[in-house]
Amino acid sequence: MPLLSRLHQLLNADTCHAYIHTLRWKDRSLHCPRCQSHAVGPWGNYHYRPRLKRYWCHGCRRTFNDLTHTLFAQTQRSLPHWSLATFLLCLSCSSRRIARELGVHVRTSYRWCWWLRNAALSYEMDRQLVGTVEADELYHTAGSKGQAKQGGKRSLGRRPRRRRKKREPGRGHYDKDRPAMIAWVSRQGPVVVQAVRDFTVTTVQKAVDLAVQMGSRLYTDSASSYRALNGYVHEFVNHTKKEYAHGEIHEPIPLIEFPCYSALNLFGRAPWLEHSKG
Ligand SMILES: [Zn+2]
Repeated sequence: MPLLSRLHQLLNADTCHAYIHTLRWKDRSLHCPRCQSHAVGPWGNYHYRPRLKRYWCHGCRRTFNDLTHTLFAQTQRSLPHWSLATFLLCLSCSSRRIARELGVHVRTSYRWCWWLRNAALSYEMDRQLVGTVEADELYHTAGSKGQAKQGGKRSLGRRPRRRRKKREPGRGHYDKDRPAMIAWVSRQGPVVVQAVRDFTVTTVQKAVDLAVQMGSRLYTDSASSYRALNGYVHEFVNHTKKEYAHGEIHEPIPLIEFPCYSALNLFGRAPWLEHSKG
């Protein structure tokens, strides 16, 4: 039985419409999303969605509502479907699981997840961290799980790799199927995680220029790529001397925690608002 059918008291159309209205206009005055005019007035509602308020814009002489120019405009599914999908996506549920809980087709939920992730990314791409920023990197081993290179059911000509490809010695590299991932964690809360080709000075300098505002304070480990960075106040702890914290200088919490951070950021920022399906 889909989860949505059990949550209808909590997630009904009325509460969802009221929530979207508050979320969209809480920190700015009501205006037309097409021409940005503030000369707007109420214009009744829709007979098929009584709780969805409609407004008239005196600027472009057209009507709009709380969902105009959002992912939810003219969607065939109800707002509770979308709200629950967003919530489950933020809890890192798979699109198959979301489809099951919502009672929609797998392709529908896959498409929704894709739209929601894109909308969330569009809010975050230009953001730079400021203040005190901690950084650390890890190398993610690609899993090949035994597929043949050309795909299909042809024999592999080798033993399957099972869950994970075996690690090779040394630092990871994209060409070795083990790219580096660098996490920049601001002490004010926001996080930027980047997947990079390798961990050379040039790459890390490019990554930090994108993620962190010039002049910020950086706390890292003693890797030479961090120590060569220009444009930042840099301090580090030396793990080879068994030093893991030095006053307020220390590295971020284990990287395994990051999905929780991104989920919180995603949901707090209301990413579905004002983003077309493009
Ligand atoms: Zn207008």
